[in-house]
Amino acid sequence: MKFHYSTYRIQCRHSFTISRSSNDSFNVVFVYLTQDGKTGMGEAAPSKRYGESFDQILSILGHGTFSKLTDTNSLDKTLDELRPLCQGCNSLEAAVDMAAHDLWGKIEDKPLFQKFGLNGQEMPVTSFTIGIDSPDVIQEKVKEAEKFPILKVKLGTGSDKEIIREVRKVTGKPIRVDANEGWNLEEAKNMCDWLSSQNVEFVEQPLPANKLSETAILKETSTLKLIADENSLTASDIPELENAFHGINIKLMKCGGVDEANKMIETAKNHKLEVMLGCMVESSLSVTAAAHLSPLVDYADLDGNLLITNDPFEGVKVDKEGRLVLPSNPGLGVTMREQV
Ligand code: MG
Repeated sequence: MKFHYSTYRIQCRHSFTISRSSNDSFNVVFVYLTQDGKTGMGEAAPSKRYGESFDQILSILGHGTFSKLTDTNSLDKTLDELRPLCQGCNSLEAAVDMAAHDLWGKIEDKPLFQKFGLNGQEMPVTSFTIGIDSPDVIQEKVKEAEKFPILKVKLGTGSDKEIIREVRKVTGKPIRVDANEGWNLEEAKNMCDWLSSQNVEFVEQPLPANKLSETAILKETSTLKLIADENSLTASDIPELENAFHGINIKLMKCGGVDEANKMIETAKNHKLEVMLGCMVESSLSVTAAAHLSPLVDYADLDGNLLITNDPFEGVKVDKEGRLVLPSNPGLGVTMREQV
Protein backbone atom coordinates (compact mmCIF):
# COMPACT_ATOMS: atom_id res chain seq x y z
CA MET A 1 0.00 0.00 0.00
CA LYS A 2 1.37 3.38 -0.98
CA PHE A 3 1.03 6.52 1.13
CA HIS A 4 1.58 10.12 0.17
CA TYR A 5 0.39 13.49 1.39
CA SER A 6 0.07 17.10 0.30
CA THR A 7 -0.40 20.39 2.12
CA TYR A 8 -2.98 23.05 1.42
CA ARG A 9 -4.06 26.42 2.78
CA ILE A 10 -7.83 26.87 2.90
CA GLN A 11 -9.00 30.47 2.68
CA CYS A 12 -11.96 31.68 4.72
CA ARG A 13 -14.78 33.57 3.00
CA HIS A 14 -14.91 35.90 6.01
CA SER A 15 -12.36 36.02 8.84
CA PHE A 16 -13.36 33.13 11.11
CA THR A 17 -13.58 34.65 14.58
CA ILE A 18 -14.65 32.85 17.74
CA SER A 19 -14.21 33.76 21.42
CA ARG A 20 -10.54 32.68 21.56
CA SER A 21 -9.15 33.16 18.02
CA SER A 22 -9.47 34.72 14.58
CA ASN A 23 -8.20 33.27 11.28
CA ASP A 24 -8.31 34.22 7.59
CA SER A 25 -6.90 30.85 6.52
CA PHE A 26 -6.00 27.41 7.91
CA ASN A 27 -3.25 24.98 6.89
CA VAL A 28 -4.47 21.42 6.35
CA VAL A 29 -2.87 18.15 5.24
CA PHE A 30 -4.40 15.75 2.71
CA VAL A 31 -3.31 12.10 2.85
CA TYR A 32 -3.67 9.45 0.16
CA LEU A 33 -3.58 5.62 0.41
CA THR A 34 -3.26 3.63 -2.82
CA GLN A 35 -3.74 -0.08 -3.35
CA ASP A 36 -5.23 -2.23 -6.17
CA GLY A 37 -5.33 0.81 -8.45
CA LYS A 38 -7.66 2.73 -6.08
CA THR A 39 -6.81 5.75 -3.93
CA GLY A 40 -8.46 6.70 -0.63
CA MET A 41 -8.22 10.32 0.54
CA GLY A 42 -8.30 11.92 3.97
CA GLU A 43 -7.83 15.33 5.59
CA ALA A 44 -6.23 16.56 8.82
CA ALA A 45 -7.38 19.98 10.02
CA PRO A 46 -5.48 20.36 13.32
CA SER A 47 -6.71 22.66 16.08
CA LYS A 48 -4.46 24.56 18.49
CA ARG A 49 -7.18 24.25 21.14
CA TYR A 50 -6.41 20.53 21.31
CA GLY A 51 -2.64 20.99 21.24
CA GLU A 52 -2.24 19.96 17.60
CA SER A 53 -0.62 21.83 14.71
CA PHE A 54 0.20 21.65 11.01
CA ASP A 55 3.95 21.61 11.82
CA GLN A 56 3.47 18.72 14.25
CA ILE A 57 1.73 16.68 11.53
CA LEU A 58 4.48 17.43 9.01
CA SER A 59 7.04 16.35 11.59
CA ILE A 60 5.23 13.03 12.21
CA LEU A 61 4.87 12.39 8.47
CA GLY A 62 8.52 13.38 7.93
CA HIS A 63 9.76 10.41 9.97
CA GLY A 64 9.10 8.16 6.97
CA THR A 65 7.20 5.43 8.88
CA PHE A 66 4.18 5.84 6.59
CA SER A 67 6.26 4.80 3.56
CA LYS A 68 6.54 1.19 4.78
CA LEU A 69 2.88 0.11 4.72
CA THR A 70 1.99 -3.49 3.90
CA ASP A 71 -0.58 -4.59 1.33
CA THR A 72 -3.57 -6.21 3.02
CA ASN A 73 -7.08 -7.40 2.21
CA SER A 74 -8.66 -5.92 5.33
CA LEU A 75 -9.78 -2.43 6.39
CA ASP A 76 -9.20 -3.32 10.06
CA LYS A 77 -5.62 -4.41 9.37
CA THR A 78 -4.99 -1.18 7.46
CA LEU A 79 -6.31 0.85 10.41
CA ASP A 80 -4.36 -1.22 12.97
CA GLU A 81 -1.18 -0.47 11.07
CA LEU A 82 -1.87 3.23 10.49
CA ARG A 83 -3.25 4.44 13.83
CA PRO A 84 -0.10 3.92 15.97
CA LEU A 85 1.95 5.81 13.37
CA CYS A 86 -0.08 8.96 14.12
CA GLN A 87 1.54 9.27 17.57
CA GLY A 88 -1.67 10.31 19.30
CA CYS A 89 -2.38 13.22 16.93
CA ASN A 90 -6.16 12.88 16.55
CA SER A 91 -6.55 15.06 13.44
CA LEU A 92 -3.91 12.99 11.62
CA GLU A 93 -5.62 9.84 12.84
CA ALA A 94 -8.90 11.21 11.43
CA ALA A 95 -7.15 11.76 8.08
CA VAL A 96 -5.78 8.21 7.80
CA ASP A 97 -9.03 6.72 9.15
CA MET A 98 -11.11 8.43 6.47
CA ALA A 99 -8.53 7.62 3.74
CA ALA A 100 -8.64 3.93 4.74
CA HIS A 101 -12.46 3.92 4.77
CA ASP A 102 -12.48 5.72 1.41
CA LEU A 103 -10.02 3.22 -0.09
CA TRP A 104 -11.94 0.17 1.19
CA GLY A 105 -15.26 1.61 0.08
CA LYS A 106 -13.80 2.06 -3.41
CA ILE A 107 -12.28 -1.46 -3.45
CA GLU A 108 -15.61 -2.97 -2.30
CA ASP A 109 -17.67 -0.55 -4.41
CA LYS A 110 -19.80 0.65 -1.47
CA PRO A 111 -20.50 4.15 -0.14
CA LEU A 112 -19.27 4.66 3.44
CA PHE A 113 -22.75 5.06 5.01
CA GLN A 114 -23.47 1.40 4.12
CA LYS A 115 -20.69 0.23 6.46
CA PHE A 116 -22.78 1.66 9.32
CA GLY A 117 -26.05 0.21 7.97
CA LEU A 118 -27.46 3.66 7.20
CA ASN A 119 -29.82 5.03 4.58
CA GLY A 120 -27.93 7.78 2.71
CA GLN A 121 -31.24 9.45 1.82
CA GLU A 122 -32.21 10.16 5.45
CA MET A 123 -30.13 13.27 5.88
CA PRO A 124 -30.53 16.10 8.41
CA VAL A 125 -30.45 19.82 7.70
CA THR A 126 -27.21 21.54 8.65
CA SER A 127 -26.90 24.75 10.58
CA PHE A 128 -24.76 27.53 9.15
CA THR A 129 -22.18 29.31 11.33
CA ILE A 130 -22.11 33.06 11.85
CA GLY A 131 -18.69 33.97 13.29
CA ILE A 132 -18.07 36.97 15.53
CA ASP A 133 -17.92 40.19 13.51
CA SER A 134 -18.93 43.84 13.31
CA PRO A 135 -22.71 44.54 13.27
CA ASP A 136 -22.91 45.29 9.52
CA VAL A 137 -20.91 42.16 8.57
CA ILE A 138 -23.05 40.01 10.88
CA GLN A 139 -26.17 41.24 9.11
CA GLU A 140 -24.54 40.56 5.72
CA LYS A 141 -23.58 37.01 6.79
CA VAL A 142 -27.11 36.29 8.03
CA LYS A 143 -28.49 37.41 4.64
CA GLU A 144 -25.96 35.15 2.85
CA ALA A 145 -27.22 32.24 4.98
CA GLU A 146 -30.83 32.70 3.81
CA LYS A 147 -31.40 29.10 2.66
CA PHE A 148 -30.26 27.58 5.96
CA PRO A 149 -33.19 27.04 8.34
CA ILE A 150 -30.99 27.20 11.45
CA LEU A 151 -28.04 29.46 12.27
CA LYS A 152 -25.23 28.78 14.70
CA VAL A 153 -24.07 32.07 16.19
CA LYS A 154 -20.67 32.40 17.85
CA LEU A 155 -20.72 34.31 21.16
CA GLY A 156 -18.45 34.71 24.19
CA THR A 157 -17.43 38.29 23.38
CA GLY A 158 -18.63 40.78 25.99
CA SER A 159 -21.12 42.18 23.44
CA ASP A 160 -23.17 39.03 23.00
CA LYS A 161 -26.62 40.58 23.34
CA GLU A 162 -25.74 43.14 20.65
CA ILE A 163 -24.74 40.32 18.30
CA ILE A 164 -28.04 38.50 18.82
CA ARG A 165 -29.95 41.78 18.36
CA GLU A 166 -28.13 42.32 15.02
CA VAL A 167 -29.10 38.82 13.91
CA ARG A 168 -32.69 39.42 14.99
CA LYS A 169 -32.89 42.61 12.88
CA VAL A 170 -32.54 40.34 9.82
CA THR A 171 -34.18 37.03 10.77
CA GLY A 172 -36.41 35.32 13.34
CA LYS A 173 -35.27 31.76 12.45
CA PRO A 174 -34.00 29.41 15.19
CA ILE A 175 -30.47 29.99 16.46
CA ARG A 176 -27.96 27.69 18.10
CA VAL A 177 -25.46 29.60 20.23
CA ASP A 178 -21.81 28.59 20.68
CA ALA A 179 -19.95 30.41 23.48
CA ASN A 180 -16.71 28.44 22.90
CA GLU A 181 -15.92 28.44 26.67
CA GLY A 182 -16.26 32.25 26.73
CA TRP A 183 -18.44 32.73 29.84
CA ASN A 184 -18.14 32.32 33.59
CA LEU A 185 -21.02 30.79 35.56
CA GLU A 186 -22.70 34.13 36.34
CA GLU A 187 -22.52 35.30 32.72
CA ALA A 188 -23.74 31.93 31.51
CA LYS A 189 -26.76 32.02 33.85
CA ASN A 190 -27.66 35.54 32.70
CA MET A 191 -27.16 34.74 29.03
CA CYS A 192 -29.12 31.48 29.17
CA ASP A 193 -32.03 33.35 30.81
CA TRP A 194 -31.95 36.10 28.21
CA LEU A 195 -31.39 33.79 25.23
CA SER A 196 -34.37 31.65 26.19
CA SER A 197 -36.61 34.48 24.91
CA GLN A 198 -34.70 34.72 21.59
CA ASN A 199 -35.81 31.52 19.80
CA VAL A 200 -32.55 29.77 20.71
CA GLU A 201 -32.45 25.97 20.37
CA PHE A 202 -29.43 25.28 22.61
CA VAL A 203 -26.14 26.67 23.93
CA GLU A 204 -22.85 24.98 23.09
CA GLN A 205 -19.96 24.91 25.56
CA PRO A 206 -20.96 27.88 27.78
CA LEU A 207 -18.09 27.44 30.27
CA PRO A 208 -14.44 26.38 29.97
CA ALA A 209 -13.96 22.61 29.70
CA ASN A 210 -12.23 22.54 33.11
CA LYS A 211 -15.38 23.97 34.79
CA LEU A 212 -17.46 20.83 34.58
CA SER A 213 -18.94 21.06 38.11
CA GLU A 214 -19.99 24.69 37.44
CA THR A 215 -21.56 23.56 34.16
CA ALA A 216 -23.55 20.99 36.17
CA ILE A 217 -24.82 23.87 38.36
CA LEU A 218 -25.80 25.81 35.23
CA LYS A 219 -27.68 22.78 33.90
CA GLU A 220 -29.87 22.73 37.03
CA THR A 221 -31.29 26.19 36.28
CA SER A 222 -30.88 26.63 32.53
CA THR A 223 -34.05 26.44 30.48
CA LEU A 224 -31.89 25.98 27.38
CA LYS A 225 -30.17 22.71 26.50
CA LEU A 226 -26.40 22.65 26.95
CA ILE A 227 -24.21 20.85 24.39
CA ALA A 228 -20.59 19.85 25.13
CA ASP A 229 -17.94 20.53 22.48
CA GLU A 230 -14.55 21.33 24.06
CA ASN A 231 -15.56 18.87 26.83
CA SER A 232 -16.35 16.06 24.39
CA LEU A 233 -13.33 14.76 22.46
CA THR A 234 -13.61 10.95 22.45
CA ALA A 235 -16.02 8.28 23.73
CA SER A 236 -14.15 8.02 27.05
CA ASP A 237 -15.09 11.64 27.88
CA ILE A 238 -18.82 10.98 27.64
CA PRO A 239 -19.86 9.29 30.94
CA GLU A 240 -18.84 12.28 33.11
CA LEU A 241 -20.76 14.71 30.89
CA GLU A 242 -24.20 13.29 31.67
CA ASN A 243 -24.79 15.53 34.70
CA ALA A 244 -23.51 18.73 33.11
CA PHE A 245 -24.85 18.66 29.55
CA HIS A 246 -27.90 17.58 27.54
CA GLY A 247 -25.85 16.53 24.51
CA ILE A 248 -22.44 16.37 22.85
CA ASN A 249 -20.85 17.71 19.67
CA ILE A 250 -18.71 15.12 17.84
CA LYS A 251 -15.99 16.15 15.38
CA LEU A 252 -13.75 13.78 13.42
CA MET A 253 -10.71 15.99 14.09
CA LYS A 254 -11.20 15.65 17.86
CA CYS A 255 -12.00 11.93 18.03
CA GLY A 256 -9.75 10.49 15.29
CA GLY A 257 -12.14 9.24 12.63
CA VAL A 258 -15.48 7.72 11.68
CA ASP A 259 -15.15 4.54 13.76
CA GLU A 260 -14.57 6.48 17.01
CA ALA A 261 -17.31 8.96 16.02
CA ASN A 262 -19.72 6.04 15.61
CA LYS A 263 -18.67 4.71 19.02
CA MET A 264 -19.29 8.19 20.51
CA ILE A 265 -22.80 8.24 19.04
CA GLU A 266 -23.60 4.87 20.65
CA THR A 267 -22.05 5.87 23.99
CA ALA A 268 -23.91 9.20 24.05
CA LYS A 269 -27.23 7.50 23.36
CA ASN A 270 -26.55 5.02 26.20
CA HIS A 271 -26.05 8.01 28.49
CA LYS A 272 -29.24 9.69 27.24
CA LEU A 273 -27.29 12.53 25.67
CA GLU A 274 -28.33 14.13 22.40
CA VAL A 275 -25.82 14.05 19.55
CA MET A 276 -24.61 16.77 17.25
CA LEU A 277 -22.10 16.18 14.46
CA GLY A 278 -19.82 19.15 13.77
CA CYS A 279 -16.56 20.01 12.06
CA MET A 280 -13.68 22.47 12.03
CA VAL A 281 -13.12 24.84 9.09
CA GLU A 282 -12.31 22.07 6.59
CA SER A 283 -12.63 21.14 2.92
CA SER A 284 -15.45 19.02 1.50
CA LEU A 285 -13.25 15.94 1.93
CA SER A 286 -13.55 15.59 5.71
CA VAL A 287 -16.96 17.28 5.94
CA THR A 288 -18.28 14.59 3.59
CA ALA A 289 -16.71 11.84 5.73
CA ALA A 290 -18.61 13.16 8.76
CA ALA A 291 -21.82 13.57 6.74
CA HIS A 292 -21.92 9.81 6.10
CA LEU A 293 -22.75 9.36 9.82
CA SER A 294 -25.27 12.20 9.96
CA PRO A 295 -28.41 10.02 9.55
CA LEU A 296 -27.63 8.86 13.13
CA VAL A 297 -27.57 12.25 14.87
CA ASP A 298 -30.02 14.79 16.29
CA TYR A 299 -28.24 17.90 14.95
CA ALA A 300 -25.79 18.49 12.09
CA ASP A 301 -23.40 21.42 11.95
CA LEU A 302 -21.46 20.38 8.86
CA ASP A 303 -20.71 23.68 7.19
CA GLY A 304 -16.89 24.01 7.40
CA ASN A 305 -16.59 23.58 3.63
CA LEU A 306 -19.17 26.32 3.05
CA LEU A 307 -17.06 28.87 4.95
CA ILE A 308 -14.11 28.67 2.51
CA THR A 309 -13.46 30.01 -1.00
CA ASN A 310 -10.96 27.48 -2.43
CA ASP A 311 -12.39 24.04 -1.68
CA PRO A 312 -10.30 21.60 -3.77
CA PHE A 313 -12.90 18.81 -3.42
CA GLU A 314 -16.51 18.15 -4.26
CA GLY A 315 -18.61 15.89 -2.05
CA VAL A 316 -21.60 16.48 0.21
CA LYS A 317 -23.93 19.23 -0.98
CA VAL A 318 -26.71 21.24 0.63
CA ASP A 319 -30.13 21.43 -1.07
CA LYS A 320 -32.29 24.54 -1.21
CA GLU A 321 -33.89 23.72 2.16
CA GLY A 322 -30.48 23.41 3.87
CA ARG A 323 -30.56 19.58 3.91
CA LEU A 324 -27.33 17.63 3.38
CA VAL A 325 -27.13 15.54 0.19
CA LEU A 326 -24.55 12.74 0.10
CA PRO A 327 -22.75 11.75 -3.10
CA SER A 328 -23.58 8.19 -4.21
CA ASN A 329 -20.09 7.16 -5.40
CA PRO A 330 -18.22 4.44 -3.46
CA GLY A 331 -16.13 5.28 -0.40
CA LEU A 332 -16.54 8.89 0.71
CA GLY A 333 -17.79 9.74 -2.79
CA VAL A 334 -15.53 12.77 -2.92
CA THR A 335 -13.83 13.94 -6.13
CA MET A 336 -11.07 16.45 -6.69
CA ARG A 337 -12.05 19.60 -8.56
CA GLU A 338 -10.27 20.29 -11.85
CA GLN A 339 -9.34 23.78 -10.79
CA VAL A 340 -9.84 25.75 -7.61
MG1 MG B 1 -18.25 24.53 19.27
